Amino acid sequence: MAEPKLLGGVEAGGTKFLCGVANEDGVVLDQVRIPTTTPAATLSAASAFFAKAQARHGALAALSIGSFGPLSLRATAPDYGSITSTPKVGWSQIDLLGHFAQTLDVPMALDTDVNCAAVGELLFGSGRGLDTFCYVTVGTGIGVGLLVGGVPHGGANHPEAGHIRLPRALGDQAFDGICPFHGDCLEGLASGPAIRARWGMPAEELPPEHPAWGVIAEYIAGLCASLTYIVRPDRIIIGGGVMQPIDMHARVRTALHKQLGGYDSSIAELDMDAYVAAPTAGDSAGLTGALAIAHRLVTRQWPMHWAIGAQQNSVSTLSKVS
Ligand code: ADP
Ligand code: ZN
Repeated sequence: MAEPKLLGGVEAGGTKFLCGVANEDGVVLDQVRIPTTTPAATLSAASAFFAKAQARHGALAALSIGSFGPLSLRATAPDYGSITSTPKVGWSQIDLLGHFAQTLDVPMALDTDVNCAAVGELLFGSGRGLDTFCYVTVGTGIGVGLLVGGVPHGGANHPEAGHIRLPRALGDQAFDGICPFHGDCLEGLASGPAIRARWGMPAEELPPEHPAWGVIAEYIAGLCASLTYIVRPDRIIIGGGVMQPIDMHARVRTALHKQLGGYDSSIAELDMDAYVAAPTAGDSAGLTGALAIAHRLVTRQWPMHWAIGAQQNSVSTLSKVS
């Protein structure tokens, strides 16, 4: 009988790293939450977790990492596998894959946090049954993951759709934007820190009637319109802290419908309630997705049976990460 295969996953975020190991049936055997401090401390704690997990559960068969970026994902690039020029202090030019390759000799994959979250949504959330959809997060930054024809999209490198430039929303001409690279790109105008810079308080403290929400919805709808024209996805799933207010998805749907302008019957007839959705795969969809990508490295297939067994003891329990 073939040896059972142990899968490793990492969701590398600006605040925390979630690391986990699961068996081929998606049962999570061990998991840990490591605060993101310095690369040396955080990455050595992650390696120590995998060393301990292997001592308990046997050798890893594959490791997959979903990380904040930007990342170098082109296999022929000299810095392949690294975080490149992040504003997160101390984390630029950090060789994530190289770090794990020092201690683990297994197939490894690195992708964006948003592509991994898209895979989590494919298995357990709002992407179930779809093969082409977008996963957008609007939080500290704005990121877009794409699942195209059933696989996470990466071209010469990963997409950077959070940095597109859009027409200024009505009443928002004066603010310069905060993106260190572009000023008033989408992330520079509509991320959580941009809201704070513009209106003087954290987004979660702005009252529901504040004009900020209309402005932000207009920009997020602009992103959705661009994604609609370029990708023609089955759905756009939008999460992240800034989308938490209860009516944000409804505001984006209304603004998007207006921006699309009735063009092309297949677009004009989109059911906006189904087309613009909230994520439903839980807080650790990124780690779930990373583990699923590790499974795919070993078997060349998505582990759809994880989703079927989700009620029992599968990766859906990852939301209990301590
Ligand atoms: P991250 O992007 O760092 O992974 P989040 O998706 O939680 O984390 O995004 C954090 C941003 O979301 C912060 O800028 C914060 O102000 C904003 N935010 C968090 N909660 C809310 C809320 N309930 N309503 C509006 N904005 C929020
Ligand atoms: Zn930018």
